Amino acid sequence: MYDYLIVGAGLFGAVAARELTDAGKQVLVIDRRDHIGGNIYTEKVEGINVHRYGAHIFHTNDRAVWEYVNRFAEFNRYTNSPVANYKGELYSLPFNMYTFNKMWGVVTPDEARRKIEEQRGEITHEPDNLEEQAISLVGRDIYEKLIKDYTKKQWGRDCTELPSFIIKRLPVRFTFDNNYFNARFQGIPVGGYTSLIEKMLSGIEVRLATDYLDDKDNYDSEARHVIYTGPIDAYFDYRLGYLEYRSVRFEEEILDMPNYQGNAVVNFTDPDTPWTRIIEHKWFEFGKDENGADLPKTVISKEFSSEWNPGDEPYYPVNDSRNSEMYQKYRGLADKETNVIFGGRLGEYKYYDMDQVIARALETVRVLE
Ligand code: UDP
Repeated sequence: MYDYLIVGAGLFGAVAARELTDAGKQVLVIDRRDHIGGNIYTEKVEGINVHRYGAHIFHTNDRAVWEYVNRFAEFNRYTNSPVANYKGELYSLPFNMYTFNKMWGVVTPDEARRKIEEQRGEITHEPDNLEEQAISLVGRDIYEKLIKDYTKKQWGRDCTELPSFIIKRLPVRFTFDNNYFNARFQGIPVGGYTSLIEKMLSGIEVRLATDYLDDKDNYDSEARHVIYTGPIDAYFDYRLGYLEYRSVRFEEEILDMPNYQGNAVVNFTDPDTPWTRIIEHKWFEFGKDENGADLPKTVISKEFSSEWNPGDEPYYPVNDSRNSEMYQKYRGLADKETNVIFGGRLGEYKYYDMDQVIARALETVRVLE
């Protein structure tokens, strides 16, 4: 009999498993997929750690979380600075002085502020959707070229139908600082995320290709408590309806050239390019292998966003009002499952970043130890 059955070997599950094991509990981790790591899984191709389920860049302001992850991996000095490609025009992201200079020819921060001031005047009330929020942050020109269609491709919805918090993830700076994140600590684990999770799970029993929901009663009988990190609506057999998720599909190519786009992340912000971004994985590690040698080939992934359908991998919860209300009802059911803890992006239906997942997992298990 295990003390804890942990469903899902992603970041939340792995942190919970590590902490509970270190506190002396008997833990079993199971995962539906045939690998650990959930969506942060990386796999080596041509000497390059490929982020199989999309780019993951670790960043946090929380020193305790940073120290925690550094127990399991060394982090490199990668800083995310994506480039936006709008019909062949390239813009620096996030929105900073390089972006404003390219957009309007402005040179000083004062000129940039004045330009945005002029354009944000059209929003006269508190923004209550992503479009209004974006225009009031950076004005209509940037909204039209760099936000509107990228967001529509990513979420499959107009900006007027999306919550404003999504765009608040992006900094706006009147300096020449193109670090995408406002974070004290940032980097990519040397050797890839899979090896980080492997270290977290070391000495812990893991069963892969094992679907909890296929045989729930049987797995439940193996443990006193369950930590469930899958989709909350799937746990309840969708009895209150389907929560909406966005899914992502990747087209991966190995190219016989050392440098395809000169950056790890290029966003395609026009409406006609069908992919939202192209990731060139080698630049997360400066184009070098583990011995510091230049890699002759490159691997790119074109990322296509789509609506989630049963059978697809869910990536992003769609936290609009309809889904949030449905989630609250599922949350009510979850609160009645006294022996089960729901955690992570899917278990809590929340657009968590990796550091928030770790902080939540640590907080959750602390009370159990
Ligand atoms: N966004 C945008 N243009 C960009 C990049 C981001 O409009 O070139 C907006 C868009 O609404 C997106 C949100 O910012 O949904 C968050 O983007 P981010 O790239 O941070 O999302 P993630 O990396 O989590 O997929």
